[in-house]
Amino acid sequence: MKGRVWLAGSGPGDPGLVTLRLAEVLKSAEVIVYDRLVSPEILAMAGEKARRIFVGKRTDSHEKSQQEINEILIEEAQKGYQVVRLKGGDPFVFGRGGEELADLLASGIPCEVIPGITSAIAVPEYAGIPVTFRQLSRSFHVFTGHTAEVGVPDFDYEAMARLGGTLIFLMATSNAEEICQGLINGGMKPEMPSAVLRSALPGDEVRRITTVQDLPALLLREQIGAPAVIVIGEVVSLSSELTWRN
Ligand code: SAH
Repeated sequence: MKGRVWLAGSGPGDPGLVTLRLAEVLKSAEVIVYDRLVSPEILAMAGEKARRIFVGKRTDSHEKSQQEINEILIEEAQKGYQVVRLKGGDPFVFGRGGEELADLLASGIPCEVIPGITSAIAVPEYAGIPVTFRQLSRSFHVFTGHTAEVGVPDFDYEAMARLGGTLIFLMATSNAEEICQGLINGGMKPEMPSAVLRSALPGDEVRRITTVQDLPALLLREQIGAPAVIVIGEVVSLSSELTWRN
């Protein structure tokens, strides 16, 4: 059979949130190339014979360069294997899935993209925080707090503070101080409700509610690092009322 790559999102970690399409593809996969945020429970959904290749990237120490990852995918598919490229959340949300797809298509490899549930929405949801809520937030905006090139992105904090919607940051724990201060300097009220959240499988939860002003100190004090989703906006105040888990 001809080699092929499925570029797939595995959701925030709970196997129950894997799509039926991904579950089916995992059963027949021959090679699985996966990131650090893919949970062991989801990897276990693949057949025992599937070769598992870890290419996990941290924001600080890159285990494999993007170039190397793309080469692995192309090589395995050219050898004729059925390859699943498995990422946390959704493959096109800060997962460089678009770049991988571009390289694969340019090399003539047949591809299929399988969307996943992004942590940007699901992790707040698990913590009782709806990203939109009538009269509190009519939009939500997802930012990366870290870029490989420049560290903290060159944010227009005034524009962000003016949006009035829910601000969601991924990969932002190490730059939270600069981001929170930037938002306050940009005009956001220092008491704006803010949350730092981690949620995959029950038992691996972090749910801290604070203000934009106090969030950086809380991260330091409690030694909370990646992976975490930071949510800043009025909807965070709903969390205690809307707790539905545990
Ligand atoms: N494609 C992924 C995001 C990749 S960037 C998605 O759609 O979810 C990696 C960042 O996602 C982490 O640094 C963290 O901010 C967030 N993240 C992913 N899974 C998470 C989880 N279970 N709990 C908290 N944050 C998570």
